[in-house]
Amino acid sequence: MKSNSKYFPELREYLEHVPLIDCHDHSRVCGPKYTDAMSVLMEEYLLDDLHSASSDSEIEIIKDSNLSLEQRWPVFEKAWKRTCHTGNAQVIKLVLKKFYGEEELTLESLRRMESKLLRLDDEKVFEDILDQGNIVVRLEDVVGEIDEIKQVVNGTLKITPRGRLVVHLTPFTEVCDCDSVQEIAGTVGKTVSSLDEYLEICREIFEAYKRFGIVAFKNAIAYIRTLKYDAPDKAKAEKVFDTIMSKSKCGIDSADELKPLSDYLFHEAIRTAGDMDLPVQIHTGHLAAMRNDIVRANAIGLTKIIDTYRDVRFDLFHANWPYSGEILFLAKNYPNVAIDFCWANILDPVYCQNMFKQILCSVPHGKIHGYGSDFSGFADRAWAHASIARDNIAISLADMVETEYITPAQAKQIAYDWLFANPNKFFNLGLE
Ligand SMILES: [Zn+2]
Repeated sequence: MKSNSKYFPELREYLEHVPLIDCHDHSRVCGPKYTDAMSVLMEEYLLDDLHSASSDSEIEIIKDSNLSLEQRWPVFEKAWKRTCHTGNAQVIKLVLKKFYGEEELTLESLRRMESKLLRLDDEKVFEDILDQGNIVVRLEDVVGEIDEIKQVVNGTLKITPRGRLVVHLTPFTEVCDCDSVQEIAGTVGKTVSSLDEYLEICREIFEAYKRFGIVAFKNAIAYIRTLKYDAPDKAKAEKVFDTIMSKSKCGIDSADELKPLSDYLFHEAIRTAGDMDLPVQIHTGHLAAMRNDIVRANAIGLTKIIDTYRDVRFDLFHANWPYSGEILFLAKNYPNVAIDFCWANILDPVYCQNMFKQILCSVPHGKIHGYGSDFSGFADRAWAHASIARDNIAISLADMVETEYITPAQAKQIAYDWLFANPNKFFNLGLE
C-alpha cells in the first residue's frame, strides 16, 4: 500500500534502510523445502483466510498435497477469489512478485514457478532474504518439545540465523499428568514428587535458558485457556498438582480444573523473569486457525497480573486485534506495558495504520514495537511482512506530518524507534 501524501515517498524510502528487530517469530530451522508451487501458498495464515472463505471440506482439498495441482486448483481458485484482498493474501502476492516475477496468482503462474522454487532450507538463501528485508535480529519462540528443551539445557540447540531465543512457557505451566511433569524434570536428570520440587526444577531449567542467552519469557496460553489469571493460591495449586501426579495420562483435561495450578505456575514464572530482568511476552488478541474464542484472548484479562508485577516488563502481542481500545488503555495506564505489532501488520494493515496514528497522540511512542514476522520459517513471507509493516508505518506517519502534528524529521525518528530503538532497549539486545 502507499499514500498520496507528499511526505510518503521520502519517509518510505528512509524506512527501507531502518534495520528491523523482528520481535516475534517461530523459525526453528531454515525452511520449508518447497515441494511444488502450491506449497509456496500453503501453511499458516493464508490458509485460515481460505478456510474462512470456503468450508471444512474444501480446505481439506486445498491442503491435500497428494492431489495434483490441477485437482486442487479449482477449489483453491474459488476461495482465493473470495479472499485475495486480505493482508495475508497481500503477503503471498508480494512473494509471487518479488521472488517469481508473477503479477497474478493463476494456474499458469504456478506452473511457471515450479522450476524456480526458492530453496529456503538452504541457510544462505534464508539469510540472504533476511538481508533483503534488513531484518537484523529475530526473537525466536521455537522450543516446545522435550528434546529441544534438553538441547537448551546442554547448550547444543541450533536455531535459525539472527535468532535470539525466548522461553516458551506452555510445556512448563500446562502440565496435566505425572508423565508431563517427569519429562520436564528429566531434562535436568531429576524426578519430582511435590510442587515445591517441581518449582525448583523449573527454576533450574530457566537458569539454563538464561545461560543459553534468552531475551524474554513467552506466554501463548490464550490458545488453551483464558488470560484472566487469578491471584496465586498455593494450597489450591498443590491440590491440583497432587491429583495430576496420580495420573499417567492427562487425567484432567478441562482447562478450568487445571487453572489453579496453571495460574500459580505462571505467577512463579513471572517472578523468575523479574529476577532475571527479562520481559514477558504474551499472546493477546486474534488466534491462528479457526473457530477460536477471541474473548478469552483479550489483553484486558491481564490487568491484575500487570498491576501486581510492576517491575516486570510486559510485551503484549498482535496489537490485541481487534480490541485496540483495551490495549491502548493498558499501555497508557501501566508503565510496564509495551504494545507489540507482531503479526498484526498483515492480520489487518488498516487497523495498524489507524492505531499507529492514534497511539502517537495517546500512548508514549517509546512503548511501541513495530514489527514481528510470526512465521515458522518462510523467510520469503517475513520479507513481505516487513515490507507491509514499513508501508503501514510510513502511511500513518506521513498522514500525521500532513496534519502538522509532527515534522518530517520527527516522523523518521519515531519510525526508527518503533522498528529498532524501542525493542533494542526493551529486550536488552545491545545492538549498536
Ligand atoms: Zn507466534
